[in-house]
Amino acid sequence: MKRMPRIVVIGSANIDLTTFTDRFPRPGETIFGRDFSLGFGGKGANQAVAARNCGADVAMVARVGDDMFGEATIQNFKKLGIDTSRVLMTPGVSTGVAPIFVDSAGQNRILVVKGANDRLTPEDVYAAKDVILRADKVVLGLEIPLLTTIKALQYAKEHGIGTIFNPAPAQILDLKEAGLADYVIPNETEAEILSGMPVRNLDEARQCVRKLQEGGLSRVIVTLGANGALFGDQHIGSFAVEPVDTTGAGDAFIGSLAVFLSSGYSELEAISRANLYAALSTLSIGTQKSFVDAERFNSEWRRRSG
Ligand code: ADP
Repeated sequence: MKRMPRIVVIGSANIDLTTFTDRFPRPGETIFGRDFSLGFGGKGANQAVAARNCGADVAMVARVGDDMFGEATIQNFKKLGIDTSRVLMTPGVSTGVAPIFVDSAGQNRILVVKGANDRLTPEDVYAAKDVILRADKVVLGLEIPLLTTIKALQYAKEHGIGTIFNPAPAQILDLKEAGLADYVIPNETEAEILSGMPVRNLDEARQCVRKLQEGGLSRVIVTLGANGALFGDQHIGSFAVEPVDTTGAGDAFIGSLAVFLSSGYSELEAISRANLYAALSTLSIGTQKSFVDAERFNSEWRRRSG
């Protein structure tokens, strides 16, 4: 039997604290909220869970705080079979949290406190070299310090390890640094910030990719929501679904793509598979909770790819 793809995610782990309320309180006012839900989140953690659900051997390189959320985050990874030996507890800092407030119109207000995610250092990455050096793909983003991501990209490149860089949340970057990655995968907003160009349709997305490639990025995949993805100048169509909640679709795409690329599929097939994996994640509420397992994915793929 072929061995499982090995994926390492160097990234963030947050706890999402979602409060549902009829309206937002005014300054100084206390009101009752309607409902509350606590969920595991953070782009890095979400991508790790997507990769794990797709059947990969996954290790997470991250920092959590030495609080109950840190413990719970590690337990959640363990329960899913994700290697937590490089998830470090950081004394005196909180775990990353995202208090989210949703009103009755579905409008949300989100605060992100980076907490321990902001303490992940290049040294933490080098200390995880045994897992990194045997990885098929290393996945990186921007919810950890930029310097750590850049140094990790450099380190992986020096050692011939393939990398996938998700430049999220959107920020302006030196394209030479971003170009250290084998694949750079922004969504439309991130692509706009990265390129300084509007990305409102496929044509503009193509121009944007061209500009990013001229700037030094070798392989660019722009995710286009319901329109699928653009790889270089090739459009890979999405799968028709009736979405219930698209939160986390981008993370589902990135985490699953890492596995599909490592499984030896052609780039176009791997992207098409990631489109389906991400589309399926929109069919139920939540982020990690909405990521399907390999069995469900395979049966949908058989049914829909023919
Ligand atoms: P993000 O979640 O980062 O904003 P996108 O909205 O681009 O990222 O979504 C990521 C991927 O999820 C898309 O490339 C596509 O494959 C899939 N996807 C998202 N929304 C839909 C949808 N409405 N229908 C089908 N696929 C979708």
